[in-house]
Amino acid sequence: MSWLTRDGLAASLAVGGAVTWGLGWRGLALLAAFFLSGSLLTQWASGTGGRRNARQVLANGGVAAAAALAGSWAAAAGAIAAATADTWATEIGSFSPVPPRLLTTWEPVTRGASGGITALGTAGGVAGAIAIAALALVLDRPGTVMVLVTLAGIAGTLADSLLGATLQGLYECPGCGARSERRDTVCHAPLRLIRGRRWLDNDGVNLTTTLVGAAVAALGARFSS
Ligand SMILES: [Zn+2]
Repeated sequence: MSWLTRDGLAASLAVGGAVTWGLGWRGLALLAAFFLSGSLLTQWASGTGGRRNARQVLANGGVAAAAALAGSWAAAAGAIAAATADTWATEIGSFSPVPPRLLTTWEPVTRGASGGITALGTAGGVAGAIAIAALALVLDRPGTVMVLVTLAGIAGTLADSLLGATLQGLYECPGCGARSERRDTVCHAPLRLIRGRRWLDNDGVNLTTTLVGAAVAALGARFSS
């Protein structure tokens, strides 16, 4: 298993256990769809993909686990839809023939930069949200509204891009101008913050993405029933 570090594997088992405990095999099926499709897409798009650690796993799956333990199918499905849409958008967007543009200012940014969006990536994100919503529908749980789960996934991705373009910390090397989203990156000199906040990194943004997805689906389910 080259997709996870040792602590990442432990975190995945904890998330899978919590989702199964709270929502049964249907919840686990939804989570597995996210994990497998995301891992395969990452492998395909970036070759190696990089192994996920516990922090990354919990940023993507922690909200779904909490929602499942609280017994909320809608919130868990919304969180998983958001995580899936975000991953599909990123990986499918990496094949875009045109460079991404920043969601806020529309200036071109480098591939993979947070807050950057492409038409292809956006379409991929919508497809990911629809895939999870369709699976949720097939699993036929009471309270499932396919449109709501799709909207939850799209809202989560939008929040991800918006935060990535504004509040997420972005750093620059004073020596060569290279940019990084990780402040611990080693370059010519200590990196300096040029945008966003130090306390918000990619994991924090992903956690917010899934929170938005869970909230949209749960609130929608409450008001539509
Ligand atoms: Zn440098």
